[in-house]
Amino acid sequence: MKAIRLHGAKDARYEDVPDPKPGPDDVLIKVKAVAICGTDVELFDGTMFYITSGMAKYPFIPGHEWSGEVVEVGDNAKGDFKPGDAVVGECSIGCRTCKRCLSGNYHLCANRSETGLLKQPGGMAEYISYPRFFLHKVDGLSYEQAAFIEPTGIAVNPAKKARISPADRVAVMGPGPIGLFAVQVAKAYGAKQVILVGGRKERLQAGLGLGADLAINYNDGDVVQQIRDATDGEMIDAVIEAVGRKSVWPMIASIAAPGARIAMTGLFAGEICDVNFDPLVVQEIAVLGCLGAPGMWPECIALHQRGLVRTDKIVTHRLPLSDFAEAIEISRGRRGGAIKVVLTP
Ligand SMILES: [Zn+2]
Ligand SMILES: [Zn+2]
Repeated sequence: MKAIRLHGAKDARYEDVPDPKPGPDDVLIKVKAVAICGTDVELFDGTMFYITSGMAKYPFIPGHEWSGEVVEVGDNAKGDFKPGDAVVGECSIGCRTCKRCLSGNYHLCANRSETGLLKQPGGMAEYISYPRFFLHKVDGLSYEQAAFIEPTGIAVNPAKKARISPADRVAVMGPGPIGLFAVQVAKAYGAKQVILVGGRKERLQAGLGLGADLAINYNDGDVVQQIRDATDGEMIDAVIEAVGRKSVWPMIASIAAPGARIAMTGLFAGEICDVNFDPLVVQEIAVLGCLGAPGMWPECIALHQRGLVRTDKIVTHRLPLSDFAEAIEISRGRRGGAIKVVLTP
């Protein structure tokens, strides 16, 4: 089959690779859509943490935001799936036997694989073989929309960890794809006010179109004062951080209300933030790390099926899989107001 394989930093090849050989617990899927993530750009550049730390090694097939159609079902998976089913696969695949897996934290399993990142080949290929335990049906969604269940999960996890409720004023820091999903998830959770903060005009505009009550451009003046005005001085109860640069922390620390929950989703690529712990202690402000979306995939699928999370303002480019390198460059955001690029094998 044809696939994109990364052979090293800046070395992506569209080439013939052996067809996957599904085992009795596996399902063979024809990939229908796969989206480019910021992580894929970092994998291509060789700067992603898993590469620099030696956890992941070239060559491998990237692609963790994918959907597809079942074409072949292993004997043990026959009760759950049949040819023609539309499916998505979770990114993290745990060993299912260790303490963390048994407690539901399979995304922290020491023996896990991660699709398109660690051990498990990704969806930037004609076919993918996937263990049935981490596969979900996605009835009623287009394949393109289904490819966005994974990044939706990256926004659902912080919403849950920050316990967003109708009592809360929420700030989403960063209007990238995760931030734009986080705005929608916060609204779906009933947040009384959702404020999106960022620097790119067209993305902030997209956020307003997806339900944000207010979008603040940090190039247009004091963010903290604008939030004070917009919240009648109450400030922010739940922050979803989706930037991953240290300049975001002073802003977050200044807008968090007493009792606030700050859910972090961005990776800072080694940048160290100066943190004053005193206000965090005396105001009982929680800072929460968020990885993946363990146990949350059925909910993410339902959010899309019920129309509470949309992708229409998020997908800006569509290309064939063979144009991966072009898609990476578009995804860097240097051209044409790109937000998300979807590839089709
Ligand atoms: Zn991703
Ligand atoms: Zn495990």
